Amino acid sequence: MSKNKHPETIALHGGDYRSDPATTAVAVPLYRTTSYQFNDTDHAANLFALKEFGNIYTRIMNPTNDVLEKRVAALEGGLAAVTVGSGQAASTFAIMNVCQSGDNFVSSTDLYGGTVNLFTHTLKKLGIECRYADPSDPSNFEKLIDDRTRCFYAETLPNPYLRVFPIKEVSDIGRKYSIPLIMDNTAAPVICKPLEHGAAVVVHSLTKFIGGHGTVIGGCLVDGGNFDWTKDPKRQPLFNEPDASYGGAQWGVVVPQLTGANVSYAVRARVVLLRDLGAPLAPDNAWGIIQGLETVPLRMKQHCSNAEKAVAFLQKHKNVDRVIYPTLHKGEIGERSKKYMKGGSGALIGIEVKGGVEAGKKFIESLKMFYHVANIGDARSLAIHPATTTHSQLTEEELLAAGVTPGYVRLSIGIEHPDDIIADLDQALGASGKPSLKAVS
Ligand code: PLP
Repeated sequence: MSKNKHPETIALHGGDYRSDPATTAVAVPLYRTTSYQFNDTDHAANLFALKEFGNIYTRIMNPTNDVLEKRVAALEGGLAAVTVGSGQAASTFAIMNVCQSGDNFVSSTDLYGGTVNLFTHTLKKLGIECRYADPSDPSNFEKLIDDRTRCFYAETLPNPYLRVFPIKEVSDIGRKYSIPLIMDNTAAPVICKPLEHGAAVVVHSLTKFIGGHGTVIGGCLVDGGNFDWTKDPKRQPLFNEPDASYGGAQWGVVVPQLTGANVSYAVRARVVLLRDLGAPLAPDNAWGIIQGLETVPLRMKQHCSNAEKAVAFLQKHKNVDRVIYPTLHKGEIGERSKKYMKGGSGALIGIEVKGGVEAGKKFIESLKMFYHVANIGDARSLAIHPATTTHSQLTEEELLAAGVTPGYVRLSIGIEHPDDIIADLDQALGASGKPSLKAVS
């Protein structure tokens, strides 16, 4: 059903779901069950031995989650997906599926703060080292590889700089060494498809644009099915050495044999990590996210077109010192947004309000329609002043290193009418010196 279909169609019809096999219900049903009746003892034994695939227990799989997983996989052009309880759990699983104690991975420096904490502190305590590479030069990734480097990690559209990541450039480097690139595509569903540019795995916080309504926390890993986990067995021991926790399974070998598909990464994440670490996405939350997913292609168009109009307005405003948006970067970094983003450059905008911290605070407090929240990707327009909130524990130097200047405000442009968005920005920036709204709407 999903092959060769457009995102608008996949979002509604993808995932091998036409109607509920038991009731013919058209909307995806919410299967609130922990467990599933086995047909007989052989059936149960076959499921546990992975000789047959089917439902065992909702910590590991659920039919509602299954539709969501298949639809997100299809939207990304991947082969399989695994949902988990949050985007944060998805990033944790993404790394733990390839790294064990003593291993390392190379990550872009441009990351969500929660991911930085996870990589720098929590994974370090588990013996997994994160090495940071500045993505402005892709070769920085190559310089940090050693024989225990297991993956590369980056975000498609990271804030505050909003520099689109050089996906193909870095994935090409990785593939020379059998190192997969894992892309967090949270900020750019539909408009960027990292797997088409060589990434092996995509991670999503479903909480943001895919859920889209600020109602549900969730995360997902998508297996691109385009990476050979057995090419260099020493590089990927978790996919080539026998797994004592699962009857000696060599995941990179056994999964393609059993399924006929290159989905070893997704299967291992499900049957080892979900089994052992828990953190499944509750079916209720999967159902909530499906409601958002069904319209995400439409919403992304409106997010992007509204953001472009807001950027044009903000660039002319005398109380704005600088506007940060993917297409405004000069040279190669600006070119990357054209190369990798199709149909728009996203909803996120950074602005530097003239007058530093006080002006940034005043601007946020003066917004009437925008919500002041620590979130992105809601259908509603959102704003935050990082220097006094998310980044308030940092010193002035650390703030600047993170790209957060005192007057920096992050906007996540919603799907309201663009004139109303611009009017709210305009009144909050102060009436003086405002350009004509007609010029940009
Ligand atoms: N990745 C990115 C880019 C994010 O912005 C966030 C949250 O803000 C996460 C991951 C974590 O997602 P969640 O809040 O669903 O755990």
